[in-house]
Amino acid sequence: MDNSYEAHFHAAASGYLVLATDGTILDVNRTLVSWTGHSRDGLIGGNIVDLLPVGDRFLFASHAAPQLAVSGCFNEMAVELLSADGKRIPALLSGVRSEGDDGGLDRISVFNASERRSYEQELLAALRKAEAAEASRAAVEAELRENQRELEEKDRILEASLAESRKREALLATVLDTADVGLLVLGEQGEVVLTNAHLVTIWRAAVGNASVAEMQQLVYRPDRETKVPIPEQPFHRAADGESFSNEVIWLAPGSDKQMAVGISARPIRTDGIVSGSVLALNDVTRLVQAVAAQEEFVASVSHELRTPLTSILGYLDLALEDETLSPHVSTVLGVALRNSERLLSLVSDLLSVASGSKKMERRPVNLAEIVRAGLVSVTPKARANAVALEEDLPACLTVEVDPQRLAQVVDNLLSNAVKYSPDGGTVSVRLRQERESIRLTVSDTGIGMSPAEREQVFTKFFRSRRAVASAVPGVGLGLVITKNIVEDHGGELTFISEPGRGSTFSVTLPVR
Ligand code: ADP
Repeated sequence: MDNSYEAHFHAAASGYLVLATDGTILDVNRTLVSWTGHSRDGLIGGNIVDLLPVGDRFLFASHAAPQLAVSGCFNEMAVELLSADGKRIPALLSGVRSEGDDGGLDRISVFNASERRSYEQELLAALRKAEAAEASRAAVEAELRENQRELEEKDRILEASLAESRKREALLATVLDTADVGLLVLGEQGEVVLTNAHLVTIWRAAVGNASVAEMQQLVYRPDRETKVPIPEQPFHRAADGESFSNEVIWLAPGSDKQMAVGISARPIRTDGIVSGSVLALNDVTRLVQAVAAQEEFVASVSHELRTPLTSILGYLDLALEDETLSPHVSTVLGVALRNSERLLSLVSDLLSVASGSKKMERRPVNLAEIVRAGLVSVTPKARANAVALEEDLPACLTVEVDPQRLAQVVDNLLSNAVKYSPDGGTVSVRLRQERESIRLTVSDTGIGMSPAEREQVFTKFFRSRRAVASAVPGVGLGLVITKNIVEDHGGELTFISEPGRGSTFSVTLPVR
């Protein structure tokens, strides 16, 4: 053996034995010598089986030796080696036979099994660690990939909603600018959030380049003389969350740009809390002027009609006083008188509506008495319609009102209740003093009104289809006048009505 082979042989990490084919130890390396504690010389010349306990000797003879003989090798046979001090060292033997002229040699490598097991365990532990590290790396990578995917998904959703909101914005801008009405959106603090092109046109036309503060000094009531105090201005009230429809104000009256503006407002509610307001503004100057012209026309025509009518009535009265008249002529004159009276009351109604609120002459009066008088005058018509009249009135209820105008209210409500009960029924009048107010209710069981009719009942000249079809006389002014009178007294006129079931009109007057 050359030197380097020898050095390797002895310094190897496992033990080596060189045997003759009968098991005689020809050489042994130092590693095995140091493991077993036997002397090298003591081992050489001995037999391998001397190093094994009895059981393993048998195993070597029955397993390793035949394999070496038949296949020239054996692998990893677990045995115990007997050390010099009698201890048993677990070992793994592998052997290979090389044939030679001298009958062959068996080279046996001896692994220290406990060392090897601890190597193996260390190796296994390292492997497990590496596997765990790989698994956690893979998990982190999967999580990263998932995060990335989620981010991409969010990105995609964001992009899509951005595109959608751009589309909506464009749609909104087009709708806003197409609308033939000025639109103004106020934010939570009353700041201007959005306007459309039409609003800018209205603003410029009415107040030029005025700021909001300057504009607020130019807001007038429909009489064009009284300024509207800022807290009562529609913009201010809308910013406070108020809802209203078609309120008319005049902007800059007296200037050549003056404009009547109709304003409606609705609050924006987010989760039930007012977070702004939308206002719609319309230039209603022409409309207001046309209505004023119409009212002026009606007023002057009515006025012109009243004088000759009063004279006709006077002369008819005179003529009827003549006792020499034949019954036929006096009947004819009577018809003419009744129709002239109707014509005069119509003309008075027209005048009363056209001239708006007149000066009132309030004085303390017994309202119950006024109602009783109203009941007396409606009795003939009630009898003709087979309507029963019921009353629930106090003997005396003194109120400070304009007696003539209150009588007009009572007459209008009673005559409507009877007129619109053409198939009989009951009309009940009730008068009560409540805590802060006086309430007069007139109920009937007549034809009633549909929801559409109820909406229009306080519109001038409105008459329901049934009223017209059943030829109930009237021109559609009575309730407008009644409402005006009640409101002039600081009161309120309300009603409920169901078609086929009847109506109840209530007048509430404040106690002065
Ligand atoms: P007029 O009675 O002269 O037509 P009003 O202003 O008094 O005018 O009433 C307007 C309309 O309201 C009537 O034409 C009728 O259609 C409806 N109306 C008023 N009062 C009643 C009532 N008590 N029952 C049913 N309909 C009524």
